[in-house]
Amino acid sequence: MTADVHINAVEHRFNTFTALHRVDLEIAAGEFIVLLGPSGCGKTTLLSIIGGFYTPSEGQVLIGGKDMTHVGPKDRPTTTMFQDYALFPHMTLCDNVAFGLRMRGMAKAARTQKATEMLNMVGLKDKAGRKPHELSGGQRQRVALARALAVEPDVLLLDEPLGALDLKLRRQMQDELKAIQRRVGTTFVHVTHDQEEAMAIADRIVVMNHGRIEHCGTPEEVYLTPKTLFSANFMGEMNRIPMAAAGQSPLGQLDVPPQEGLLCLRPENIGLEGTFSLGLARLEDASFFGAHHRCHFTPVNAPDLTLVVHLPQGAHPEPGAEVELFGRNPVILPQPTPETTA
Ligand code: ATP
Repeated sequence: MTADVHINAVEHRFNTFTALHRVDLEIAAGEFIVLLGPSGCGKTTLLSIIGGFYTPSEGQVLIGGKDMTHVGPKDRPTTTMFQDYALFPHMTLCDNVAFGLRMRGMAKAARTQKATEMLNMVGLKDKAGRKPHELSGGQRQRVALARALAVEPDVLLLDEPLGALDLKLRRQMQDELKAIQRRVGTTFVHVTHDQEEAMAIADRIVVMNHGRIEHCGTPEEVYLTPKTLFSANFMGEMNRIPMAAAGQSPLGQLDVPPQEGLLCLRPENIGLEGTFSLGLARLEDASFFGAHHRCHFTPVNAPDLTLVVHLPQGAHPEPGAEVELFGRNPVILPQPTPETTA
């Protein structure tokens, strides 16, 4: 019903192109892991290697402690759920969900009972006799999930499963997916390029870039203390202030660890209060976003720099006003080099 997954020094090449560079990743049994990164970073390649669709050029894949590196998909304790769901249009929902069980030789009464249980779990028991075209996109997605889980895989691999849904439904399905994963306890490995989706569902997020893991950690760790500039930028907006080793910056001497690099501050970590001063700045403009005001400030000492700041809902930002800004939760990362992408 659940298993851990160890990826040991996995490298994958397509002819001369290296899609994965010596990737190491340990996934605990029952964990919800999200592989996150831009198009082409290697997420699907890694998922396909876990599912047995590709044999890695080098390295090893262990599932539940067993070496699966050269084992095909059907002999692994994994199920893969693709974005297009591939439900059988002529079959009822019940038969769709029971399909994998039929292939395994389960008797009709037992598989109907199991399929009904699964449809109940995803809230579609009363629609068991319908055909897929009689459902909404979100309902079809739930049927696909019920079908994938009916065969009780140890590890469920999900490749952009919510990609075809509109934003509102996507957010709703994220909550459902997480709740179902908690209930069944199966290890989930989920691919997406949507940072908000990753934050909403993951126990740990694996940020990937150019076939490498940039950072692997809880949503809080990856968002608040990113290990690389790429990871920092991919997880959301970030102000970047160049720092010399002595704590010198274009804004003046800042009371942060005296370290050379880029001082990274999220917009919500700059405001009218904080743990260190960023000096005087002029408010250029402000837009109300509901939970906060999104503001652009120009520091008086560095007119070429723009700071994006989220002021709280109750603030009354007045464009043209000059105020002292403060920062908190500073993260200092190395300046990008030609070899590192930011
Ligand atoms: P997306 O979000 O667009 O699906 P991804 O992060 O899943 O992207 P992959 O599909 O894993 O990326 O591809 C990683 C890299 O490997 C890409 O540069 C891609 O062009 C390349 N690639 C993938 N499959 C093949 C293949 N069969 N032959 C050659 N190159 C491939």
